[in-house]
Amino acid sequence: MALLSIVLPAYNEEENIANTAGVLSGLLEEQGIDYELIFVSDGSGDGTFSEIRRAAERNPRIRGAEFSRNFGKEPAIFAGLEMTRGNAVIVMDCDLQHPPQVIPQMWKLWQEGAEVVEGIKVSRGKESPVHRLSAGLFYKVMSKLINMDMDASSDFKLLDRKVVDVLLTLPERNTFFRALSFWVGFRTESVTYEVQERQYGKSKWSFFSLMKYAVTNATSFSTLPLQLVTVMGVIAILFSVVLFVQTLVKYLSGTAVEGFTTVIFLILIIGGFLMLSLGIIGHYIARIYEEVKGRPKYIISRTTWDPDSPVR
Ligand code: UDP
Ligand code: MG
Repeated sequence: MALLSIVLPAYNEEENIANTAGVLSGLLEEQGIDYELIFVSDGSGDGTFSEIRRAAERNPRIRGAEFSRNFGKEPAIFAGLEMTRGNAVIVMDCDLQHPPQVIPQMWKLWQEGAEVVEGIKVSRGKESPVHRLSAGLFYKVMSKLINMDMDASSDFKLLDRKVVDVLLTLPERNTFFRALSFWVGFRTESVTYEVQERQYGKSKWSFFSLMKYAVTNATSFSTLPLQLVTVMGVIAILFSVVLFVQTLVKYLSGTAVEGFTTVIFLILIIGGFLMLSLGIIGHYIARIYEEVKGRPKYIISRTTWDPDSPVR
């Protein structure tokens, strides 16, 4: 019988674990789907891992691991994928904002031959206006940069075993799960869902962390910002040709005394362009630096199946 693995990254979600585990196992048992739940606690500072361990004691189909510190959602997803044994794997948030009711639909599409089933958001649910705006901006920028329609995409998706295995062989450290599942290709289907309200706790994203996430992902997935540097250079050159001609004409006609304003203006513009370009290049160097160091994506400090792992 085919096994479905569900990967649930969790960062400070102690209130959600027991509830989510209960809801998912109830649903899957009712549907007669053979399953396992993999919780990855992303270096939580609360009792998330104790909750995972408790859930694992109650239900042997539940396993989990704890990171040595907060590495981020991407590493948590990949650690979870690494731990799965299923023929198909679903990744979803553990706050039940990704409605479990669409899991049977995803499973059915997989049984019919789909290798990737994307969860497409039809509404973003209830969020604060600031969060909505920053998330909206984030997806707009990302879609443009990586040239894929990411507007409604999410981390909620089902992957066939072979897709998971391909993702796990990718050597890069700065992963962007959401876009990688597009990038790898395979037979893709989609299901739509409404983003639900968070069960307990609050969102882990601030405006600042979302922007940082956007920049990191943009530079790890696209070289478009680098081309922007070239575009700025071309604009600066065109501009300087015009001003050069103007200055020359003025000089030859003997009226080249004033022009202090132009000089300040030029210094500011060129200075701005240069620093922006250096910043963009700097981001890429940072990515290269991180990749070259070759450090692991995450460090696991404890697991539910290792009896020696210390209890907090
Ligand atoms: N998450 C994580 N590591 C982090 C931040 C978030 O594993 O550093 C998990 C979090 O526990 C949740 C999922 O990623 O299961 C989505 O996070 P959240 O609900 O805060 O984001 P939102 O739904 O508001 O976009
Ligand atoms: Mg959420």
